[in-house]
Amino acid sequence: MTQDTKLAEAIAIANIPTLLMVLVQMTGEKRWLEDPYKIRRAGGTGDNDTGGLDESIQNEIRDAALEAISAWQGGKPVAMPDPSNDELVEMLTVAMGETVPQEYGEMTAAQLGQTPMLWDEKIDVPEGFNVVVIGAGVSGLASAVNLQAAGVPFTVLERRSGVAGVWQDNRYPGAGVDTPNHLYSYSFAPYDWSAYFVLRDELHDYYEHVTEEFDLKKSIQFDTNVISTTYNADSQLWEIAIRKPDDSEETLTANIVISAAGIFNPPAFPDIPGLDSFTGDSWHTAEWPKDKTIEGKKVLIIGNGATCMQIGPEIQNQVESLTIFQRSPHWASPFEQFRTNVPEAMRYLFQEVPLYRMWYRMRLGWTFNDRIYESLHKDPSWDHPERSLNAVNDGHRAYFTSYIKKELGDCAEQYMDKVLPTFPPFGKRMLMDNGWYRMLRNPKVNLEDNPIDRIEGNKVITENGTEYEADVLVVSTGFNVLKFLSTYDVVGRDGVDLREVWGEDNASAYLGTTIPGFPNFFTLYGPNLQPGHGGSFVFVAEMQVRYVMQMIDEMSKKSLGAVECKPEIHDNYISDVNKIHENMVWAHPGVSSYYRNSAGRVVVNSPYRNVDFFDKTRHVNLDDYNVEPASATGS
Ligand SMILES: Cc1cc2nc3c(=O)[nH]c(=O)nc-3n(C[C@H](O)[C@H](O)[C@H](O)COP(=O)(O)OP(=O)(O)OC[C@H]3O[C@@H](n4cnc5c(N)ncnc54)[C@H](O)[C@@H]3O)c2cc1C
Repeated sequence: MTQDTKLAEAIAIANIPTLLMVLVQMTGEKRWLEDPYKIRRAGGTGDNDTGGLDESIQNEIRDAALEAISAWQGGKPVAMPDPSNDELVEMLTVAMGETVPQEYGEMTAAQLGQTPMLWDEKIDVPEGFNVVVIGAGVSGLASAVNLQAAGVPFTVLERRSGVAGVWQDNRYPGAGVDTPNHLYSYSFAPYDWSAYFVLRDELHDYYEHVTEEFDLKKSIQFDTNVISTTYNADSQLWEIAIRKPDDSEETLTANIVISAAGIFNPPAFPDIPGLDSFTGDSWHTAEWPKDKTIEGKKVLIIGNGATCMQIGPEIQNQVESLTIFQRSPHWASPFEQFRTNVPEAMRYLFQEVPLYRMWYRMRLGWTFNDRIYESLHKDPSWDHPERSLNAVNDGHRAYFTSYIKKELGDCAEQYMDKVLPTFPPFGKRMLMDNGWYRMLRNPKVNLEDNPIDRIEGNKVITENGTEYEADVLVVSTGFNVLKFLSTYDVVGRDGVDLREVWGEDNASAYLGTTIPGFPNFFTLYGPNLQPGHGGSFVFVAEMQVRYVMQMIDEMSKKSLGAVECKPEIHDNYISDVNKIHENMVWAHPGVSSYYRNSAGRVVVNSPYRNVDFFDKTRHVNLDDYNVEPASATGS
């Protein structure tokens, strides 16, 4: 097939709002932002492929885009190569069919790659200066790419034998993203994705690909477990105790530690009498064995959260029977692109026309990031605070409820009460419906909400005495998320252990990143950072890494040996975080989730919009830090 035919084929099926933006930039003609080409807003998380426009208008856009892209491929320059921030907001507003506030200009430019997130100049660090990164998942690799780009010496320590973090560990059937992968990927490393929401293997391949592309393997020590990291105030260095692949121990030193150890580890097990003595096969979802099968087996799954929602529909027809034990129901939204492949022609367009790829990503960024943020705040005058937060949230409840009912079909009467949450939508992590409700129609599948009392032999027995016999018992109860940095000890200034500062489950950090008493220590995916209202964690990691890079730059330029967050800055920040949370959905009294600690404080989720976090981390303010000049023994 010639390039021209491929392009024509792609444009015939391309997403109209995205194509329209490419057309505007390529031709510089702003008339495309006016009626009759203005996109009509669509609800939900779908792509709005037609833009709500008449077919004749769509065809006009397709024809003009084909002409403009062909001309560009033939050498004609892009007419608007660098739209201003205001122009970008104007364009995104049209592309979404809804008002995008002016303040989104700078973030839009960054997401579009105009002002890249990737560090793009050398940092002149002193002789001997080095950084240790703990973990080679999304955050660790983002750190490595940036440090390398800046010419800052670094080593990544990773306890597993490969990269990708959660995508290394979580191999259960159906494991995959619920954020579209064109968004859940680095701004600096586009990829030829085969589908819109890919599964674990392709995600793992992506992070392998990034590692190869940026030649990072030489800087990663695999099979190396960090045991502890201890700050030495005299030398201004961290002393990092590691266990190496041959089981020997060694201590490394570093001026800066970037902890990229993740939060979805270690696996959490429920406290059920007899769990350890189950006589069949049993495993946690994060440790899915490669050499066992569930084919033709009686399978029980404890837990019905995000992981089980992916596993259940995937295995329902392979097993003899499947019983899922539910503690409380979840909300799940329709998933238009579930298992939808990117057509070959579209893959060509994504690869060959970067502007198309960028605008497609931009639109996803708006749909999946801050769009619903406002609706997650309580309206004090709302009449039904027990079931929803405000009128919009109540509208979401009505919409999802009727969706669930429709999906359950004939089983609605049997299951509706069991699966319909009493708390407001978005109160717990919002799941994407992988066919969960349809799965419940399958006679092989049973959803049990009577609590488990105990396990005896190969049976799970509920409080009402029902016995479930099984060949395989799968534990799908997630991770000890609230125990941040639980895989190694962190000892800061004056020998203070971070675990004493944070207690069992009350982690806190300024910008989710720095902690008073722990100089030169940066924690990625730290407390109050998860974008609970949606969005891709990858962009959060990039924002954090850029912040750390700026700090290293500042330290080098000003010959600083230590930077330590001021306690009052940290405390004010956390009090702001707590105050905003009080009014948001995750603190709703009807919700219990892994977002909140035993005292009810929301510890995992961010209370901020992505654009707020972007602004807060855009420029390091050294006034937030106590700083020390570099000592002779340090750098
Ligand atoms: C099943 C699943 C699905 C998810 N889906 C999405 C999604 O759709 N969208 C989204 O935005 N987020 C999703 N997430 C959240 C996900 O955690 C983040 O997107 C992202 O992968 C976090 O990357 P990370 O590098 O910070 O942490 P991780 O991926 O957890 O990586 C941490 C790394 O540190 C290593 N490590 C830890 N302790 C030590 C130690 N002591 N010594 C040496 N190495 C150590 C680990 O082995 C690991 O490789 C999902 C999480 C899970 C578990």
